Amino acid sequence: MQMEFQGKTVLVTGAGKGIGRATATMLAARGAEVVALTRSPSDLDSLKAEIGCRTIAVDLADPAATRAAAREAGPVDYLVNNAGTTALDSFLDLTVETMNHLLAVNTVAPMIVAQEYARDRIARGLKGSIVNVSSVSSFIGFADHAAYCASKGALDAMTRVMANELGRQGIRVNAVNPTVTLTPMAVKAWSDPAKSAGMMNRIPVGRFADPDDVAEVILYLLSDRAAMVNGIAMPVDGGFMIN
Ligand code: NDP
Repeated sequence: MQMEFQGKTVLVTGAGKGIGRATATMLAARGAEVVALTRSPSDLDSLKAEIGCRTIAVDLADPAATRAAAREAGPVDYLVNNAGTTALDSFLDLTVETMNHLLAVNTVAPMIVAQEYARDRIARGLKGSIVNVSSVSSFIGFADHAAYCASKGALDAMTRVMANELGRQGIRVNAVNPTVTLTPMAVKAWSDPAKSAGMMNRIPVGRFADPDDVAEVILYLLSDRAAMVNGIAMPVDGGFMIN
């Protein structure tokens, strides 16, 4: 397992921070050549200095720019659709603009990047594997998270269809669904101690996830060790979902 990604190239979106950065770093440590795609050039520069990856800066809310960036990123052996964003609004205050923005980044961008990846794999007669980073928010109606929950629920549904269609062409597609993970996004969503305490109480292992906890599961699902796993939405939640 130590160098199981030796000779493989992996595209990781949202590789600048948090779970994506941990995933890119773990992949590089296990031999992969990483193509890092994210928004902030400064994050790409620092990641490149750390792991020697190829870098592409793009705003994934822009579908045309996203498609061009996905084409520029290929060909790669594996894809991790990790980039995501959140917004906190009560349902009654939620605007169409916010809903559309979260759907664009969290659902439509993974669709576009996966289309470009899968078309290339199929054209070259090669198998592949995609991991979409979803959230336990796809299963739960967290207050103030309507747009986020909807975008991740749609991502899980799309993952199942992708697994069904692309699985027949040798490309497995799975989702990981983390609980609160200690990243810049979690600070935005869970900095209110009253909310985070309630969340923590429902996690039997007694802590939030670290980015590496999620990265380990992403690498497993990407790899041939998970050769018979296709179309799942896997909680990485310390047991949160059983409560
Ligand atoms: P962070 O906010 O820490 O990092 C997200 C990364 O995605 C950043 O590099 C960010 O770049 C990039 N990104 C966001 N929006 C865009 C965009 N429009 N275009 C290009 N890149 C973009 O998030 P996490 O690491 O916490 O989240 C990673 C994934 O995990 C997301 O899909 C999230 O929904 C999911 N998740 C996170 C949980 C958590 O508690 N942290 C729990 C469950 C799921 P930049 O900073 O430059 O915008």
